[in-house]
Amino acid sequence: MEPILIYDTTLRDGTQAENINFTSEEKVKIAKKLDELGVQYIEGGWPGSNNRDVRFFELAHKEVFKHARITAFGATRKPSTAACDDPNLQALIAAQTPTVAIFGKTWPLHVETVMGNTREENLAMIRESVSFLRANDREVIYDAEHFFDGYKDDPQYAVQTLLAAAENGAQFLVLCDTNGGTLPSEIQSIVAEIHHSLKAGGQSVRLGIHCHNDCGMAVANSICAVQAGATMVQGTVNGYGERCGNADITAIIPILSFKMNQPTIPHQHLSKLKTLSRYVSETANMIPLNSRPFVGKSAFAHKGGIHVNAIMKEPRAYEHMDPVLVGNKRRVLVSDMSGKSNVEYKAKEMGVELGCNGYDCQQIVSEIKAMEDQGYQFDVADGSLKIFLEKFTRQFKPLFDLESFRITVEKDEDRPCTAHATIKIKVDDAHEITAAEGHGPVSALDSALRKALGKFYPDLDVMRLVDFKVRVIDGREGTAARVRVFIESRDHDDIWTTIGVSEDIIEASWQALADSFQFKLAKEQTAAEGKNTP
Ligand SMILES: [Zn+2]
Repeated sequence: MEPILIYDTTLRDGTQAENINFTSEEKVKIAKKLDELGVQYIEGGWPGSNNRDVRFFELAHKEVFKHARITAFGATRKPSTAACDDPNLQALIAAQTPTVAIFGKTWPLHVETVMGNTREENLAMIRESVSFLRANDREVIYDAEHFFDGYKDDPQYAVQTLLAAAENGAQFLVLCDTNGGTLPSEIQSIVAEIHHSLKAGGQSVRLGIHCHNDCGMAVANSICAVQAGATMVQGTVNGYGERCGNADITAIIPILSFKMNQPTIPHQHLSKLKTLSRYVSETANMIPLNSRPFVGKSAFAHKGGIHVNAIMKEPRAYEHMDPVLVGNKRRVLVSDMSGKSNVEYKAKEMGVELGCNGYDCQQIVSEIKAMEDQGYQFDVADGSLKIFLEKFTRQFKPLFDLESFRITVEKDEDRPCTAHATIKIKVDDAHEITAAEGHGPVSALDSALRKALGKFYPDLDVMRLVDFKVRVIDGREGTAARVRVFIESRDHDDIWTTIGVSEDIIEASWQALADSFQFKLAKEQTAAEGKNTP
């Protein structure tokens, strides 16, 4: 079976998203990751529109891509300009890519009302631009912008624009739901109609689909298009894109592969999907969406005791697929709703032996419930849960001990607060005192602890605190109300959350901060021990 081709446009359409920007160098790194995954096309940018994209194509030209064809994106020629004189088309050629994608107008509303152009000149722009690129030996992907809106308005003209591209040598016609307002049933019937009429007309051109997510339908629409005959799917990693985003290839790829048995990327690379999703969100500096299908942290997380019990007997009871196939993992959450099954499962997963030192699981469940009554919430704080289980069963080996810290906060007149922290810790028998500044007390404490530990554990700089949340738990007792602090930390491979609860915000922050560093250091130590065993 021919694979459904995955055309990634994270580096072009994805960067239309609010708050997403990549440097040329970052784009090359993402392109390399996409190539390792095995996508067939990578749209690198629009060289006619900015220098950053010109530079990306210069850099990409020096790289070797094993699977993917790097593609430059642009528009058809301007009205009343010869194709060979059009600066945008010249920039596409200068990008030196094997494949070029150009978009043209389908919808008379855009041709006439928005552009003030004529229908005939629009067709000539498509014909001549495609011919020019083909004459320059490029594979041509023609993106029919607003195809579905145009087709619903004037099907005959919409088909004429497609034929203008196909008859001049375009290898792919990509039908775009640019405004994202089309429903799956419409996509399916329109793609099927186009597919049949092209076939009947003897056209060997292949069909692609490009969907936006304005109705939350981009993935569903892309899948429907494939069912109706499209063999190329355009989308972005994590669905990043303008407004509500593009079709998310981290969902489309596993749906095609596992639910439809359609080959896409090489099968052995499917388990890299989660890492790719994380890599791109990290580079884009976007907090990963936990509920993202297939690759999100919560995609295979189970909280209810009954679910967990069933999953331990038979995962299929509450999971639609094996998370490992996409590089994700099953997570069992421990909370006051949990029974013994959750705690046992979790302890095993974290490598904590519950039976030793004479504790039984029921005691641990009761203690967790008591702590949750005080405000702890372990289902969202895996890092602290592991440390709690180790401490409770007397297996915890601290990788540092706090001796003391002192924090001062200064504020004068209109200037913002500055905070200074001094910390004294002990690692084995060595004592260390350091001081640091920060924008606030927690940031000063984090910097001081990091500096102190850095003397003993130089790998800590890859660890970052990415989120800090404070919540007042019980406001009824006035100033004695407790606060709960969550800290989310990341390194290259993992995200973990730790928790602290106290009447004092600094104390609660310290608990969460200390747990986060203990968790990271223990993780490094386990990894190092793993490497040493043959
Ligand atoms: Zn788009």
